[in-house]
Amino acid sequence: MDNKLRFYNTLNRKEELFIPNEDGKVAMYTCGPTVYHYAHIGNLRSYIMEDILEKTLRYVGYDVKRVMNITDVGHLSSDADTGEDKMLKGAKREHKTVMEIAKFYTDAFFSDCTKLNIKTPDVVEPATNCISEFIHMVEVLLEKGYAYVAGGNVYFDTSRLGDYYVFSSQSEKELLVGVRDDVEEDANKRNRNDFVLWFTRSKFEDQALKWDSPWGVGYPGWHIECSCISMKHLGEYMDIHCGGVDNIFPHHTNEIAQSEAYLGHKWCNYWFHVHHLTDKTGKMSKSKGDFLTVSLLESKGYDPIVYRFFCLQSHYRKPLEFSYEVLDNTTVAYEKLVKRIGGLKKDGEVNREKFDAYRQKFQAALCDDLNSSMATTVLYDMLKEDMSDATKYALAEDFDKVLSLNLTTAYEAGKAENEVDAQLEVYILEKIEERRAAKKERDFAKADAIRAELLEKGIILEDTREGVKWKKA
Ligand code: AMP
Ligand code: ZN
Repeated sequence: MDNKLRFYNTLNRKEELFIPNEDGKVAMYTCGPTVYHYAHIGNLRSYIMEDILEKTLRYVGYDVKRVMNITDVGHLSSDADTGEDKMLKGAKREHKTVMEIAKFYTDAFFSDCTKLNIKTPDVVEPATNCISEFIHMVEVLLEKGYAYVAGGNVYFDTSRLGDYYVFSSQSEKELLVGVRDDVEEDANKRNRNDFVLWFTRSKFEDQALKWDSPWGVGYPGWHIECSCISMKHLGEYMDIHCGGVDNIFPHHTNEIAQSEAYLGHKWCNYWFHVHHLTDKTGKMSKSKGDFLTVSLLESKGYDPIVYRFFCLQSHYRKPLEFSYEVLDNTTVAYEKLVKRIGGLKKDGEVNREKFDAYRQKFQAALCDDLNSSMATTVLYDMLKEDMSDATKYALAEDFDKVLSLNLTTAYEAGKAENEVDAQLEVYILEKIEERRAAKKERDFAKADAIRAELLEKGIILEDTREGVKWKKA
């Protein structure tokens, strides 16, 4: 296939031409959410940009199989095998069971994704579905001498590897070793970077979910789940593995260590990482308690798709700072854009030559390390071009296969919603008048029935000195 898609491969620390293992096919894996809380809009920046990558691959003609895990066990509060399981923390916080928490926040995650037009991966697998696969991989690692049992837990022995810090340059490696100096030491570990594959003993004995294993009743470490779930569905060779930059170390480093030790060969060729969304106070984090969610944006009147548009305006390899001021400006720009596209006459002849030329430009922007802001500039340029409305409309529809901004449908949907609002207002005013008349006749039962009828439709009436006012519930 000749499409020249290039993107930055963290593994080789440079931008590279993408060549999959099998011509025309892509095996892609994404680290899914830890479902102990809502996803914050920082997490969702990563999933939006990974969605752009997947849709770009499909746009240029690949057949993509994408797999995602759901972390519902094993992710401890610290990535370095210390601290309580995040799921248990969530369950305690909400006085629910771990499985109730997992179900609730998995549903909430996919509902956010739907609002942001993020496609659901072809396979979604919760970690708790794959315990036997984890146990099998740990057994093989023990047999091959890459793992050891100490103090009841099974650890991966990083000293068995020639190069454990696969993602880092020499100076970064020294820095990483330095950073880990303050990590609480686990006396069972032979080497500072060894990590737990299977826990039967930790400081937190009240772990809710436990399974029997050859090493006793316990639960898996976090990293093992991504290695096993990806191999279960994608086999021994993978093309692209995605995540946010915080996953590079230790999570992805450990995934590579154990996967390649298990397989005995190279596992994944391209590693795609999205930089963080920050706010004025710094990196967004679920554990901070007070964080930005899609629901919060909606409650403030923002359309989630405007947040997607905001993300597309900046490059995925740059940190992005969130502010309401910028989101306000993005809202204005988005409304203008969809109004402009909504005003195009879609019937008529499409100029094939111009269509192909613009498609080419759009594709070139995406193939240049997923330059989504350049791709939206191509969209604006295209709308300014002297060509038929039908051609512009067809191109907007085509670009939206990747951008997924509801470009050709948002304006009509907005108009329809305003229409509904206008009709509702007429109806409410009629009911208020009817109620006033009923009260005048001292028919209070009827007046109350009208109030209840409106309440059922989500409308609250308030009797004030200036007259009756109404608001949505
Ligand atoms: P988690 O649910 O914590 O496992 O994280 C889900 C995804 O969000 C992972 O790919 C993380 O690397 C990514 N992530 C975490 N924080 C941020 C952030 N502030 N900005 C962008 N991505 C993030
Ligand atoms: Zn992962």
